[in-house]
Amino acid sequence: MSRAVDVVVIGAGIAGVSAAYELAVRHEVDRVVLIDPRPPLTLTSDKSTECYRNWWPNRPMVDLMSTSIDLLERMAAESGNVFGLNRRGYLFVTADEERFRRMVEDAHHTSTLGAGPVRFHPGPIPYRSSPHEGFAGAPEGVDILVGGDVVVDHFPYITHAAVGALHVRRAGWFSAQQLGAWMLEQARSHGLELVVDEVVGIESGGGAVGPVHLAGNGLIEAPIVVNAAGPMAGPVAALAGIDLPLYSELHLKVACRDHLGVVPRDSPMVIWSDPQRLDWDDEERAALSENGRDDLLGELPVFCHGRPEGGADSPYLLGLWEYHGVVEEPLWPLPQDPLYPEVVLRGLTTMVPGLSAYRERLPQTTVDGGYYTKTRENRPLIGPTALSGFHILAGLSGFGVMVAAGAADLLARHVVGAELPDYAGAFLLARYDDPDYLSAISGPLSSGQL
Ligand SMILES: Cc1cc2nc3c(=O)[nH]c(=O)nc-3n(C[C@H](O)[C@H](O)[C@H](O)COP(=O)(O)OP(=O)(O)OC[C@H]3O[C@@H](n4cnc5c(N)ncnc54)[C@H](O)[C@@H]3O)c2cc1C
Repeated sequence: MSRAVDVVVIGAGIAGVSAAYELAVRHEVDRVVLIDPRPPLTLTSDKSTECYRNWWPNRPMVDLMSTSIDLLERMAAESGNVFGLNRRGYLFVTADEERFRRMVEDAHHTSTLGAGPVRFHPGPIPYRSSPHEGFAGAPEGVDILVGGDVVVDHFPYITHAAVGALHVRRAGWFSAQQLGAWMLEQARSHGLELVVDEVVGIESGGGAVGPVHLAGNGLIEAPIVVNAAGPMAGPVAALAGIDLPLYSELHLKVACRDHLGVVPRDSPMVIWSDPQRLDWDDEERAALSENGRDDLLGELPVFCHGRPEGGADSPYLLGLWEYHGVVEEPLWPLPQDPLYPEVVLRGLTTMVPGLSAYRERLPQTTVDGGYYTKTRENRPLIGPTALSGFHILAGLSGFGVMVAAGAADLLARHVVGAELPDYAGAFLLARYDDPDYLSAISGPLSSGQL
């Protein structure tokens, strides 16, 4: 069976769903088809920590993310905030004076990129805590808490070893599942069609994209095809003869029942910004060594982080720490690490000493995760390619949930020929045609992003 539509979107993760929503609802494109063999949002997009921040170290990312957060706030207002967008912020904590000095320096730089003002505490402007729910009236920019006493004053569950903390304010979390479901419902009421199938071929001829072949033997023809296939974006682009500079990193996440209520339900996301060594006792060290886990005995990387999950009555705490550094072709079921819950809880205990209550007996935990599919310089790929009509919305790394709205807005502008923002060029695949750009991003792969 063969048929023609206006736009085909491949992949119903948060990227594809957001693109379909932008095209069908905001730009009123008539016949948009979203193709995925899996139920929407079930590969990577429901495994995320679902956090967002406008705090990025370069201009295009601050601009793109700010647009995305503007759109998230607009959708929250339109939907009665069905997806629970909050603005609790990210709290970056350190016990290292020199690191704190650099964090403050970086904060000034990020502020000059348009991410909001810097306020010091103690200082002339009183510190304001975050609203528990929603985002109305919450401050922007960053609050810098100078000295362990000030940190503990505002966040009594954080270690007295802290020497300072940065509370990034245009940041928080939301339910990506609920947002995706709401966008799908809106888009379907504007004519979006969901096709449960896998794209196994993409024709190209005369420099333009041709019909898309489905595993179910059908063909769909469209002048525009959007590749939003997440971890499979590379292989899907290869079907059309396009090479994408993407690689994938495994990231896990643990949900723990914090039944003792150690981390307050109104906490921001808390992030330990120092490398650390875990305090295994001699017996544990010997057992780890015997079991080939010497990787856990030395210094482990920065950014062990966590946040409460669910409402005031929920006991859940999410914890993440990427100490594996595994770069690989995406593979399911995901590689397991049976020690992940214990390692993350011990790492978090350095920042939140009350979690030592779980040292002897781990709480109930569940681990899941997925892949950060990313470019070398950790900027997404958004927009047209050299093959006319073939667009990319991929490389969303560890920020796909927060950037999807802004990325889909940019993608849809390319597709319908609407006015493009200044930052559009920074996300095109064609940036890699520039030798100066290539040499600027050469060197080791960037990692360690939350
Ligand atoms: C542990 C973890 C924590 C994270 N935390 C955060 C966070 O706090 N904030 C944040 O913003 N981001 C976070 N992320 C990142 C975020 O989850 C991803 O960037 C995002 O979900 C990627 O969305 P996607 O739509 O590109 O990919 P996916 O959700 O993987 O969707 C891709 C879809 O494409 C489909 N597909 C693939 N091939 C084909 C084909 N041939 N035909 C048809 N369909 C196809 C797949 O079936 C899949 O449904 C986290 C990720 C992980 C793993």
